[in-house]
Amino acid sequence: MDSERTYRLERLLEATRNLSTALEFEPFLQSLIAVACELTNSEAASVLSYDPSRDGLSFTAAPFHQRDLLRGVTVPLEGSVAGWTFRHAQPLVVQNTAEEKRHFKEVDRLTGSHTRSLLAVPLLFRGGPVGVIEAVNKMGNAYYTEEDVTNLETLASLAAFAIREHDLQQSVNSAFAEAASLDRLKSDFIAITSHELRTPLGLILGHATFLRELVGAEYHEQLDLIIRNATRLKEIVENLASVDNYQSGAARVRQRKVSITSLVQEVVDSFQEEARMKGVILVVSAGRENLSIEGEAGKIAIALSNLIKNAILFTDKDGHVFVSAEAVPGYIKVSVVDDGLGIPAKDLPRVFERFFQVESHLTRRHGGMGLGLSVAKVMIEMHGGRIWVESVEGKGSNFTFLLPVDPMQASAADKVFLS
Ligand code: ADP
Repeated sequence: MDSERTYRLERLLEATRNLSTALEFEPFLQSLIAVACELTNSEAASVLSYDPSRDGLSFTAAPFHQRDLLRGVTVPLEGSVAGWTFRHAQPLVVQNTAEEKRHFKEVDRLTGSHTRSLLAVPLLFRGGPVGVIEAVNKMGNAYYTEEDVTNLETLASLAAFAIREHDLQQSVNSAFAEAASLDRLKSDFIAITSHELRTPLGLILGHATFLRELVGAEYHEQLDLIIRNATRLKEIVENLASVDNYQSGAARVRQRKVSITSLVQEVVDSFQEEARMKGVILVVSAGRENLSIEGEAGKIAIALSNLIKNAILFTDKDGHVFVSAEAVPGYIKVSVVDDGLGIPAKDLPRVFERFFQVESHLTRRHGGMGLGLSVAKVMIEMHGGRIWVESVEGKGSNFTFLLPVDPMQASAADKVFLS
């Protein structure tokens, strides 16, 4: 093998390596056309890719001094060498453009150059053409050879691969952008609706409570119904708003000393009546030691309430719900364990997602909006904590959260405890 051939092979190899290393799309194509010039001994080279919106070929890579001039140019599929190559998915050698009708003269006119000879090779991806690579003006007035065609074909397959990958990346990016804008729309909708609902709901509740004090006992049943349902609506609105505030970064935790021992006891007490009515035994074990952290009692109470509410809801009569709090290194661990319905393994990874429910909303027997657990997660994570679930369908569930005793040291303690 002569040394010139070895050199060419090395250059091809280098171009292949560039594709698999970190070179960005445009620099890669620029380096590719430089190699194309060198290997085919041409004055210039360019890569054109098919643009469906113009049904023509546009310049994806061109010599530096012509790039700006060629940016908006569309080479037609009919009446151009590149177009013919693209449509027939075959290479085309034009040794003398003066005798070639298919030559598209517009590019020469725009750039002020003179194309004497041309070698065009299709960029094929999975058998279909995605563009064309062209080498222009073989040096020394020589003719393009079979070896030039083969070399350019090798480069063409690299370019085709790069273009496809770039297109795919573009569509992934635009899908992400679309998803992000939909998510913003949804957040705006939630924020506006919950804000607009709050005031009238507050008025209904206030006036109904006021009326209940004024009217006789014979109307209490009706007014209690209004108050109960307006309170339920208010809870839903609050839940929506709190998840949204957290996502938009608007929520903050007020740091105060919170006794978790008393908080757990109080929240459990507030559910005793509900548990008794359902025939579920609700037990608390918070030990004698007073466990406290820095955080916001209201938010932790919301998280715990949502867990206990679910545990009672998804446990049949004569079942048990066991709530406990204990100290572990750097954290306080709170668990809500039930021996109720449990959660199917396939649904476990999704239960903390917003609006997720194990049964579909239309077929489910229990109410709710699939927000309780996502709100609980938000409240715990705002404190630098973690929440998770272990559950076996038909046997019961164990929801546990950890709250860092000192939120400042949460991340350091994380590494030790959670590793
Ligand atoms: P919802 O307020 O609609 O119940 P959640 O976010 O609180 O929504 O819960 C999501 C889903 O997780 C529930 O619909 C339920 O199917 C399941 N789930 C939550 N807690 C329990 C539990 N303790 N036992 C069984 N299933 C549960």
